[in-house]
Amino acid sequence: MTRRRFLVTSFLILPQVELAGSFFELKIFAATRELETTPSCGGADGVTPQQTAGPFFKPRSPERKSLLEADIRGSRIILEGLVRSTKCQPIHNALIDFWQADANGDYDNSGFRLRGYQLTDGAGRYRLDTIVPGVYPGRTRHIHVRVQAPNGPLLTTQLYFPGETENRRDGIFNPKLLMAVNDSANVKAASFDFVLR
Ligand code: FE
Repeated sequence: MTRRRFLVTSFLILPQVELAGSFFELKIFAATRELETTPSCGGADGVTPQQTAGPFFKPRSPERKSLLEADIRGSRIILEGLVRSTKCQPIHNALIDFWQADANGDYDNSGFRLRGYQLTDGAGRYRLDTIVPGVYPGRTRHIHVRVQAPNGPLLTTQLYFPGETENRRDGIFNPKLLMAVNDSANVKAASFDFVLR
């Protein structure tokens, strides 16, 4: 839930908390105001955590927003989000380089299948069209990514899928790197916002 949506939801709920009385409402209101003064992407806590690149990163991936190819099998997923600074400013032309396993849990180490980079648009947005990666022994389901603002430090990390039983057993899994995934539609829709130091 984004902070803005939380605020909106809070205000929508307020009139219905009649039983709790106005004192309770005031407390919720005060807490909401407190949250409002803290930018959702600010502070050390808001920075997207680093993770290992693992053994399968390859430099010089092709520039593309879709990793789909005619013979790639799997469940399609569209991942979208923003790249922002700790001051909540969207970052234009941030480089985002994705690499992932195929539906069988295999990486392409000879070519560039399921690998590609893109640059964020003027609003700091990116959009990746791909498939849900398969799992491989020892790891939960994940997508690798490197993110870098122009002239900024390199962030290497991984994105995770909610509701995976292996998340609990994976030693490097970090819940701060969970994507929001909506799979009610034909094509899964995922979102994740990066915050760069
Ligand atoms: Fe991996």
